[in-house]
Amino acid sequence: MSHISEMDDDLCPEYDFTQLTIVDRGNERHRSKRIVFCDFDGTITVAETFVAMISRFAPEVSALVLPEIYAKRVTLRQGVRQMLESIPSSSYSEIVKFARTQPIRAGFVEFLDFLKTEQIPIIIVSGGLHCMVEAVLTPYIDRIQAIYAIDLDTSLPYLQVNSRYESGTEMVAKAEIMASYDADETIAIGDSITDWNMALAASLVFARPPLTDYLDEHQKPYTPWNDFIDIRDDLIQSDAK
Ligand SMILES: [Mg+2]
Repeated sequence: MSHISEMDDDLCPEYDFTQLTIVDRGNERHRSKRIVFCDFDGTITVAETFVAMISRFAPEVSALVLPEIYAKRVTLRQGVRQMLESIPSSSYSEIVKFARTQPIRAGFVEFLDFLKTEQIPIIIVSGGLHCMVEAVLTPYIDRIQAIYAIDLDTSLPYLQVNSRYESGTEMVAKAEIMASYDADETIAIGDSITDWNMALAASLVFARPPLTDYLDEHQKPYTPWNDFIDIRDDLIQSDAK
């Protein structure tokens, strides 16, 4: 992905998140190795930034394809690729700039501080763009163990999608990423249907609507939350028991 580094060096430093090892828990007070798997769009960010971006940079194609995805006539994997690959590569830096303006949900920094103190790794799993996730999370990157999202190749006239985690109908298969980690306790945090498979497989789920609706429907237990302070306090309380 040298193209990204060339285009925006300060945003994409020379690291490969996927190669970072997970920090082992050294604190014997804890019984098990916990890992947090957290969605990005509509979870860390207040708004659904991917849909906002695609509607802005691919207005005509997204107006046709988004309703097809919502109606499940087109898979996320097909539809997201079709929309992204209709955007000229020259829009890349504007997309990154757009991402930088997206507000983060309250308590996220305090939550990261808590995870660092407790030596609990946090992995970001996003069905959106890697460059948008990085644009928002750059100030906190030293406290995040890995980011999984869609990479873009900008070397051709139109963006080319490069997702290493495609599977079935999904562009980024979150549950498969989660399963690739060795954890005693997996904590999933999310807000939408794209977090569904991950939530089903997780030991503990923190969900916001509309993910809560799907979980209710399938009677999968979860903890509702409004901001990241709620999650932090819930984890502190459950530890104290
Ligand atoms: Mg989301």
